[in-house]
Formats: sequence, structure tokens, C-alpha cells
Amino acid sequence: MNIRIHHFFDIIRDFGSGKKITPHSNLHAYHIIAEQILKNSDIEFEIVVESDAVCKGCIHLENSLCDDTISHRKDFTMKEDFNNYLDKRIIDICGIELSEKYSPKLLCKIANRYIENIEFIYEGNNLEHTLLRKENVIKGLRYYSQKHRFKIDI
Ligand code: SF4
Repeated sequence: MNIRIHHFFDIIRDFGSGKKITPHSNLHAYHIIAEQILKNSDIEFEIVVESDAVCKGCIHLENSLCDDTISHRKDFTMKEDFNNYLDKRIIDICGIELSEKYSPKLLCKIANRYIENIEFIYEGNNLEHTLLRKENVIKGLRYYSQKHRFKIDI
């Protein structure tokens, strides 16, 4: 399965916040991928910097690019550009190799680097939102690692 790394951490954050993950009006597959991750910590992921399995079916997916816009930042207007920027930052910080395969379990084990650098990664976003994200990702990592019985360094 192809996945954008920030989508993975969004899903872990939602596990942590206890949000019910239901089908979205944009018709993307976020809820389906979240369910697969929830059930199986060994799924094989290829980390990509492009539209991914979550984007499947989305009304904003046009010729494999996201045509949605964002308004919460001064430096980006197109979601595709911001997503690519964000994913590259996370990939660099977590030392992810695009040529290698990852599982949810492995990504959780290296998530301490994401957590430690989260203010830098999301610099330019609302700090309060980023700190809430941090809190919920940590909760999500603890919940998920306990559910699948593996240890994390957080
Ligand atoms: S196409 Fe854009 S809006 Fe739709 S799921 Fe992908 S990133 Fe999100």
C-alpha cells in the first residue's frame, strides 16, 4: 500500500483523540485505511510523496494530483504543494528511506523523532493545534502499541 507519511500520523492522532473515523464527504478512503491499520500493525507500506491509498476515490483527486486548497498558512495555497513539503520534512526528520518497505509497527517505533520535532515540522501552522496534535499522536502511539503488544520509545 502507498501512503503519505503525514496521513499515517493523522490516523495515529485520530486513534489517540478517540475520534470516530467515518466515511468523509470528499469520498476518500481515510476511514478504510485507518481500519486496516487498526487491525494489522504489519501491513506493508511504501512511503510516497504523491497521492496515496487514502486519496483513492476523493473528489479532489484530479490526474493523480490533489486540487484542494488550504487557507491556514501564508506560504501555501494548494494542498498538493503543502502535503509534499510536509511529507518531505517528516521523511527527512524520521530518516525514512523511500526505497524501503515500512509497517505501522516500524513507523511507530521511529515516531519519537516525529514527536520530538513536531513544532519544527508544522512550523507555520497554529502552534496550539500542533501541540494538541502532539498530545493526541502520543496517546495514539501508546494505544496502538499496547493494542498490538509492541514497545515504543515514547
Ligand atoms: S486528494 Fe487531497 S483532499 Fe483528497 S484525500 Fe488526497 S490529499 Fe486529501
